[in-house]
Amino acid sequence: MRCYDLMRFSPVAGTRDPVMGRMLDQLFVRIRHWAVSLFVLHEESDQGKKGIRWRDNLPFVLFHIAPLGVLWVGWSAFAVLFAALYYLVRMFAITAFYHRYFSHHAFATSRFFQFLFAFWGCSAMQNGPLWWAAIHRHHHIYADTEKDLHSPRIQGFLWSHIGWILAAENKRIRVEYVRDWLKYPELIFLENIAYAIPIVEAGIILIIGHVLSLYRPDLNTSGPQLLVWGFFISTVACSHATFSINSIDHMYGSRRYDMPNTSRNNVWMAILTLGEGWHNNHHHFPITARAGFYWWEVDITYYLLVLFSWLGIVRNLVPLPDEIRDSKHLT
Ligand SMILES: [Zn+2]
Ligand SMILES: [Zn+2]
Repeated sequence: MRCYDLMRFSPVAGTRDPVMGRMLDQLFVRIRHWAVSLFVLHEESDQGKKGIRWRDNLPFVLFHIAPLGVLWVGWSAFAVLFAALYYLVRMFAITAFYHRYFSHHAFATSRFFQFLFAFWGCSAMQNGPLWWAAIHRHHHIYADTEKDLHSPRIQGFLWSHIGWILAAENKRIRVEYVRDWLKYPELIFLENIAYAIPIVEAGIILIIGHVLSLYRPDLNTSGPQLLVWGFFISTVACSHATFSINSIDHMYGSRRYDMPNTSRNNVWMAILTLGEGWHNNHHHFPITARAGFYWWEVDITYYLLVLFSWLGIVRNLVPLPDEIRDSKHLT
């Protein structure tokens, strides 16, 4: 009888089957290499990568076709409400954590919550926090110059909204902009598995819908219906609302501050993105935890961060000094 001590990665002495033993050894070595590689950030070169290659973006295209499934699954009040709530939960993760925390250090938190916030952000299917923060920091440095990756003034609306995401040269993590985060192996691990997280969540949503169809038929939902509304429609909406800060919020709205870029303050975008629409404010003083600079500039993300600080989850929210708020006004 063959007997293997799996914990020791090798056959037990005296029972070695040479062929099977070699195969198992190779398998374990591969698994170990794969596990270790998940904690390593792979710095890719962007040499020779330019423009949109459609075959690289097939998942993104299919992801945008998936909401058409609504033609087959219909709708229910429960599914629509679920989609709206899941949109808000993940929009908050993008604005509070990917943007204000990982891109700008606008507040502090513990390492445990830092990991949790990164995980939460991955749910929005906008890559990992390091890719996101690096792209965004690059934008703040080069906004509306030839080097900006998504400027509607330079490259037009369509490119600034969605084209740049599809471009081969923007798939890599710009490690040079996020060196401050590289000391956290758990963040690198999340970066490497970022796409697996929303896929697992999609599976869970499908199961929830199926279970509800069995035990709460009065809700008129089903697994496929909840998947289409709660995952596909909600995620596509959350993605495009985020993309709109780069496109619409550099084209439409008012300008309070005198700056060389085209950023605007747009109340509709502020509502849709829980505060990010005050983009002209934000370009003026990016490190503060708030984007709405006056009490009437609704900034749900900031209100929730204040609540989180009261609960001890975050601390040291970077304030907005009055002299900065009142400087460089256009009017
Ligand atoms: Zn901007
Ligand atoms: Zn920013």
